[in-house]
Amino acid sequence: MSDWRRELSNATVEAARGAIAGIALETPLVPSSYLSAHAGTEILLKLELAQPIGAFKIRGAANAIAALPDDCPGVTCCSTGNHGRGVAYAAKARGMRAAVCMSELVPQAKVDGIRALGAEVRIIGRSQDEAAEESRRLVEQEGLAEIPPFDDPLVIAGQGTIGLELMEARPGLETLLIPLSGGGLAAGIALAAKAVKPAVRVIGISMDRGAAMYESLAAGRNVSVEEVPSLADSLGGGLGAENRLTLDMCRDLLDDAILVTEEEIYRAMQTLYYEDRIVCEGGSAVGAAALIAGKLPRLAGPAAMIVTGRNLDMSVHHDIMAGRSVRLGDLTLEGRPYHA
Ligand SMILES: *Cc1c(COP(=O)(O)O)cnc(C)c1O
Repeated sequence: MSDWRRELSNATVEAARGAIAGIALETPLVPSSYLSAHAGTEILLKLELAQPIGAFKIRGAANAIAALPDDCPGVTCCSTGNHGRGVAYAAKARGMRAAVCMSELVPQAKVDGIRALGAEVRIIGRSQDEAAEESRRLVEQEGLAEIPPFDDPLVIAGQGTIGLELMEARPGLETLLIPLSGGGLAAGIALAAKAVKPAVRVIGISMDRGAAMYESLAAGRNVSVEEVPSLADSLGGGLGAENRLTLDMCRDLLDDAILVTEEEIYRAMQTLYYEDRIVCEGGSAVGAAALIAGKLPRLAGPAAMIVTGRNLDMSVHHDIMAGRSVRLGDLTLEGRPYHA
């Protein structure tokens, strides 16, 4: 038996559902007629972009924060992205202090977004490592509780509540297409959905530039990858040097892992916008990208795609919708106007 089963089960996910009710929403599951026609079977979109922070990470954060004792002096984390937003929002809902630690390199818009949710922003040093050190200091010296972005049983269980909602709304679902980074989302959903329907197929999808979980699953051990700019920025980053849960869970619970290119993500963001009127970040479009590029195994029955979030820079979104080229570090993605 894998060690992770000692720390969480589908009962942990069931419990999370009650704990996060009132903070995270049960999100809509809507059909995409364009993608369904393309796939030859029904494709449903799970719209996590409708959450109060514009992304699913509010689920895991709310579950972890709900479990803290009343006398806990507050929480800390060092994510500048959707996890930081989730922690800020859920802490505020519980009336708790939240500190989000980040480096000087983080864009002002992200700083402002997290501050607007009531969190205290700590800007320390010029690297994520220095920000992480400040977060550790707050744990040791001020007694704040660190909320990890994915490798934590309560965070995984919170994300897993999506799996419960999916299988309740559509018991006939045969395939789940899940954006894959640290793996908390995919592990939680797979755990919950397979407890209800063991035969459901769960596929994790990442960008082909810096996919730590994909590379680690292939190598059979935790490998670190170079982090490079990507349209799927929320899928970047490593698994953590001491990954305890998500690598083993993804190894045991995922049926497949697939990579998509930046061009395929660009095209999928356009498709979701022009065909389904959806504004989403690149990390949310990887499932659609794999489908449109013909990279998925044959889908025999209905499939759900998790549209994980919508927190992207709107000027980038405008450029992509207008078919303009986009710069990603030293790579220029050629522009291409959308045609169905
Ligand atoms: C965090 C995140 C993911 C990936 O979740 P993991 O649990 O790290 O695999 C996917 N999409 C968005 C928008 C995210 O913020």
